[in-house]
Amino acid sequence: MLRFRKGAQILGGGMWMRLSDRTIPCVIDLSDCGLDKIEETEDEYRIGAYVTLRDLECAGVLNDACDGVLAAAVRDIVGVQFRRSATVGGSVFGRFGFSDVICALLALDTEVELVEAGRVPLATFIDMPYELDVLTHIIVKKHDYQASYQCLRKAATDFATVNACAARWDGAWHLAVGARPAKARLLSGAEAGVVSAEPSCDELAHAIEAVRGLTYSSNLWGSERYRRHLAGVLAARALVEAARYTSPEGLEAARAACAREEAIR
Ligand SMILES: Cc1cc2nc3c(=O)[nH]c(=O)nc-3n(C[C@H](O)[C@H](O)[C@H](O)COP(=O)(O)OP(=O)(O)OC[C@H]3O[C@@H](n4cnc5c(N)ncnc54)[C@H](O)[C@@H]3O)c2cc1C
Repeated sequence: MLRFRKGAQILGGGMWMRLSDRTIPCVIDLSDCGLDKIEETEDEYRIGAYVTLRDLECAGVLNDACDGVLAAAVRDIVGVQFRRSATVGGSVFGRFGFSDVICALLALDTEVELVEAGRVPLATFIDMPYELDVLTHIIVKKHDYQASYQCLRKAATDFATVNACAARWDGAWHLAVGARPAKARLLSGAEAGVVSAEPSCDELAHAIEAVRGLTYSSNLWGSERYRRHLAGVLAARALVEAARYTSPEGLEAARAACAREEAIR
């Protein structure tokens, strides 16, 4: 139906779709297809496309496994009633630059499953063209995640000016930065500028430089310069919060390095 009815669209929660004044000739509702569950297998979590943002926020086992970043990413999106309708599938398929959901998932080992395209890493999917396809699942692979999500909103429930998520898994750091305001970007391993499990002040400085090397631009929520600066600060904070420093001195020094970065030069 999606392919043969011109203009047909899959309906998620309809929360974004309803903002448009374009007439949609045919809307396909998959809410009876059993895609509203989070399933756990031996090596992954399978999040159905119709799982709501509120379900994601309250998914205890999944959030414990991901060091709480999914709940942290969605809890400031509008309000509970909104999050009970908006779906994970709509959030990911929409590939919005401001997306808190995508930013958090991107730093984890995440793939999406589509009916036509099959399983694709999220980092690849966000740059794919908007083909007619159905997103059925978002898959988060199991690892011993250390992770932290950070974002700045000028007012509660507003869109993020910048968001960042740091996650360490498989012995490497993964840094996602979104709301640039373009789509989120992922820096992994050496390109994130940080290697140690307990990043030193020098490594934090390299990570900040790497993050500030991404492309940023201006809109109503922030200027290009402000975003670039803020992205470095949020990424460093995310790294320090995610890392499990064994010595109080190491943690103190890392926090001080973050604080020094906060002043705009
Ligand atoms: C006022 C407002 C504020 C918001 N603030 C934030 C915010 O701060 N942070 C944030 O991350 N997000 C924010 N969002 C986005 C929101 O979280 C959802 O991402 C958005 O509403 C889309 O989810 P939905 O389920 O409503 O999708 P819909 O509106 O139903 O669909 C969105 C698009 O995805 C397609 N689609 C949906 N599901 C599928 C599927 N399974 N397969 C293929 N295509 C599909 C639809 O055809 C449509 O093109 C905001 C949205 C609004 C309206």
